[in-house]
Formats: sequence, structure tokens, C-alpha cells
Amino acid sequence: MNDCIFCKIVDGTIPSTKVYEDENVYAFMDVSPLTKGHTLLVPKTHVKDLFEMPEEVAANLYAVAPKIANAIKSAFNPAGLNTINNNGAFAGQTVFHYHLHFIPRYDETDGLKVKWETKQSEFTPDVLGQVAAQIKENLNS
Ligand SMILES: [Zn+2]
Repeated sequence: MNDCIFCKIVDGTIPSTKVYEDENVYAFMDVSPLTKGHTLLVPKTHVKDLFEMPEEVAANLYAVAPKIANAIKSAFNPAGLNTINNNGAFAGQTVFHYHLHFIPRYDETDGLKVKWETKQSEFTPDVLGQVAAQIKENLNS
């Protein structure tokens, strides 16, 4: 895609700090990192988001994810690691070429807050069953 910043990074038009590359994927340092080691993994094929990702692209990308995670772990020994992918502007996606963030976590003041208020009381087992049925009905659509 001509106007896609991540396609330009993959093809070298825009410089990046490469971490890993194979025939299918490219990993590089986020230019606006949250923590030391914050890395992005993208498919070389332009794919907007997870919704539009072909299974083969997903298989190739996620096959590399443990390698990236373990390299970050070995390099920096973080207390933890979040992998985050935003799909759609409402979910926080700003570059519309799929990317998986690897964010090593060092302490509670590192700037990432992953907390949510569960609504367990609303989702009784019956409701969960109905929700699951709706998803199942759409698995192949
Ligand atoms: Zn792209």
C-alpha cells in the first residue's frame, strides 16, 4: 500500500531499527516506545487489522511471536511482557497495518495501565452461553 508507513518500513523506504526479519514478517523498535525493548511485529503483506488477516499470514506472524518475546526476555529480564494489538481507531489503532506490540514491563510506574472493571455479575452462566452461541454462529461467516 503506497501510503502505508509500515509498508514503507518493510520495504526500507522509511528507515527503522530492525530486530528480526524473515520472508513473511518484520520486527523493529517502536519509535515511540513505552519501555526499553518495546518492539513491533508486522506482516510484510499489507493487512489492515486482525479482522482482515488471512490465516496463513496469522500463522506466519504468530509463529515468530515467541521468538521475539523470548529475545526481549533474555535481553532485559523484564518483570513481565504485554503483547497488545489494537484493531480499529476506537480500540486505539493509529497505523492501519496490523502490528503486534511487545511491551516489556519493569515496574508499576512504566506508564502502561492494563486494568479493567469486570462485569461478572451481568454475565451469568446463562448469559455467557448466549454470548458464546452468537460467536459460534459467526465463526465461519
Ligand atoms: Zn502496510
